[in-house]
Amino acid sequence: MSRNGIQGQISGPMLAVLIGAIGGLVLITLVQFELGGSKVDRSGRLAILINGLSQRIGRDVLLPNYGWVLQIRLPEPMDVESRDRFTVMLRSERTGATIQIEDRFVYENGIATLVIPKSLGLSTGLLSVRATFRDTTGKSFENSRRIRIRSWFGGTPIGQRQVIHFEFEVDRDDDGIPEFLADLERFGLASPDHPELARIIASRIEARAIRRVEQAYDATHDPNQTGQPRDPVHVLFRPTSDPGTYTTRICVGGSDPTHSDSVGHVRFDLRNEDKTSDECGDEPAAGIFPAELEIYRDAPLYRDVLGPFLESLGGTPIGEHPDDRALISGDIAREAGRRADIDRAIAVFGDVLGSIMAHEAGHALGLVPEGRPGVGLFGGSEGDLYAHNLLVFGDPPENRWLMNPGRSFTFEELAGEGKNGPLRFRPLNYAYLRDRVVVSDER
Ligand SMILES: [Zn+2]
Repeated sequence: MSRNGIQGQISGPMLAVLIGAIGGLVLITLVQFELGGSKVDRSGRLAILINGLSQRIGRDVLLPNYGWVLQIRLPEPMDVESRDRFTVMLRSERTGATIQIEDRFVYENGIATLVIPKSLGLSTGLLSVRATFRDTTGKSFENSRRIRIRSWFGGTPIGQRQVIHFEFEVDRDDDGIPEFLADLERFGLASPDHPELARIIASRIEARAIRRVEQAYDATHDPNQTGQPRDPVHVLFRPTSDPGTYTTRICVGGSDPTHSDSVGHVRFDLRNEDKTSDECGDEPAAGIFPAELEIYRDAPLYRDVLGPFLESLGGTPIGEHPDDRALISGDIAREAGRRADIDRAIAVFGDVLGSIMAHEAGHALGLVPEGRPGVGLFGGSEGDLYAHNLLVFGDPPENRWLMNPGRSFTFEELAGEGKNGPLRFRPLNYAYLRDRVVVSDER
């Protein structure tokens, strides 16, 4: 009896523990079922996207406290009325503060979009985003990701230590002469009989072109006019000498091996991730092809500037005119008239080439078709619009921006002598190069 009584006394709490354990197991099972079990789809069909970038590229993104775009791709379209089936929670890992934001989104075509406002007050550090969604059949979806929010002055996410090396010495056809020198001969800017002078002209054009590239990326050409003094991309643009070890190598010289009259093809090399990135091949065609500038042979500026040197226009190639010898000997008096023409040709040809180099470097740094303007940062995905500026509704911009389709430019515009002076990055492009921030509309 007493034994039974003791058993009875013990069995009560034990039973409770047992029931508790079973209850716990049931609870754990339920939680697992909720979070990772077969009923919750975590396959990524509910996707969290930043700035319209693919998830792979988006992993590298550092973001400012506001101004960027958070998008959630839903497994099925929904509208504002059914938003009780959808939750988005932000949690600052530093402060532990959480905020639920699904009611701030705009819903369109199965995508919920929010341009993060300043009033959200995001703090720097890691931010978790967790989204859940229940479809009309009751099936649950969940996804989460962490994003790093950095202070505005924390340095740019792309281009840290990136070096873009413009290789003017490439000799693709192994004839012992760099294609770039052969290109200059084609435009009357060099003569095979005067290689010493050709070298002088080539190095002056190279220097001019590099200066033009640096200018396009410089804060003085910031179309957003933020007044920030920092170098926006921390990219070094180097000509042939001392390119360093890890570079994005872009060859300058020759003609387009695909015969499509393109002045350049350069691929994306985010953060110089491909340490041997080499934009110099025929398969696929890569590089910058000055010879293709002949497509502009009817442009007034082309004829005006190159006319004195092109035999087809009655000119004499640099090096073959009697006065040109004075360029080397330094006989200023004799060279004066011809010299002004040569200086002008070097300036215009250098600026045209530099505009193309700045454009192609933009592709290497990430101005590629990964999401559309207004949401993404980039451009079209087909034909001439591939990786080039589009407006929100898919039209090319009327403004003459540097990342518009290459073929859309006149020779005058490439030379910086168009209506608006030197071609500049569109505000959206420049903001990306600086910070990966996105502005919500075309300015
Ligand atoms: Zn392009």
